[in-house]
Amino acid sequence: MNAAFATGKELQKMDPVFGQLSFDDHEQIVFCNDKDTGLKAIIGIHNSVMGPALGGTRMFNYANEWEALNDVLRLSRGMTYKAAITGLNIGGGKAVIIGDAKTQKTPELMRKFGEFVHSLSGRYITAEDVGMETRDMDIVRDVTPYVTGISEERGGSGNPSPVTAYGVFLGMKAAVKQQFGSDSVAGKKVLVQGIGHVGETLVDYLTKEGAIVTITDINEEKLYEVAAKYGATIFAGDDIYSADVDVYAPCAMGATLNDDTVNKIKAKVIAGAANNQLANENVHGLILQERGILYAPDFLINAGGIINVYAELEHYDKAEIMRKTENIYNTTLEIFDYAIKNGITTHQAALTIAQNRIDLRKIENAKK
Ligand code: NAD
Repeated sequence: MNAAFATGKELQKMDPVFGQLSFDDHEQIVFCNDKDTGLKAIIGIHNSVMGPALGGTRMFNYANEWEALNDVLRLSRGMTYKAAITGLNIGGGKAVIIGDAKTQKTPELMRKFGEFVHSLSGRYITAEDVGMETRDMDIVRDVTPYVTGISEERGGSGNPSPVTAYGVFLGMKAAVKQQFGSDSVAGKKVLVQGIGHVGETLVDYLTKEGAIVTITDINEEKLYEVAAKYGATIFAGDDIYSADVDVYAPCAMGATLNDDTVNKIKAKVIAGAANNQLANENVHGLILQERGILYAPDFLINAGGIINVYAELEHYDKAEIMRKTENIYNTTLEIFDYAIKNGITTHQAALTIAQNRIDLRKIENAKK
């Protein structure tokens, strides 16, 4: 199982697709190109044993195609385990569009992307991710039914981020309980990195429960806005990773738990929304464990968004969405317990349980 994060030149030395470090027996990888709209996208279907592959589309200005490919490989794999650990009957997939979402995203490009999604006849169902808005999914919906996260006016479940934030908050509370004895975040110093769609709502939950919240973001305007709105403090030091906090909540980009950061972190709990927080899930997960830092697996606690969009496929309502999301609290505690009993990291524990479910389903599917 490959799970390391490689960059730039390291990636280019490997075989183009199946030899990539992030390649993990993905079932299908589709390269999409459209000259007229400038669309360059990659759709990754990691595993469809549990059902059709569901996962968002990310639009990002990748430095090169290798980074885009590895991102889609890592993200789609993460979706497989996220769905399995959450108990949803879907597989793992993801798409990336190469480009700047602010300047290069057009309705024509999104429509073309939707046509590519449609060409897969439902093997991949898309949704929004970084760089995407609900209105983009509405455009995709014009050309294919294989899309979730569409607006409520069009019968969809709307923006999944508030539900994701709720799940992250509950996962964090479970981790705080495990580490400090009580699940209340009141009086706990929490650093939220990235106060976008998910991060801001998380700040809301945290401040309402009395946490002492510090925020950081590359968007300065947003920083001041969120600080004023919730009474949060803007991080002022040189290095956020050595900040003197109880909880570090990565809610911006992935791979922030890496060689440069894991040994500096002072927080005793890491619980956030970002996907693929561990640059190398075996190496960095273990270092955190050895340092006594409790890591709440990202793909488990950020599953609120997928639970929300999955409702569009299964036709359940908001109350059921919230009930399923509330399960994240108990599942997180169960994972911690499993990790201790088996002497493995929390990330490995979550992966193992998810993989066991997939293996079991594979046997059941073969009997049908
Ligand atoms: P977003 O784009 O709305 O917010 C991300 C924020 O992070 C932005 O404010 C951005 O300025 C900031 N940021 C980017 N780079 C940064 C850096 N180096 N340092 C500090 N801040 C930085 O995205 P989102 O929807 O809030 O998602 C946040 C993370 O959670 C992403 O990694 C996403 O994949 C993951 N996630 C989101 C959902 C969801 O429902 N939106 C679900 C699961 C996982």
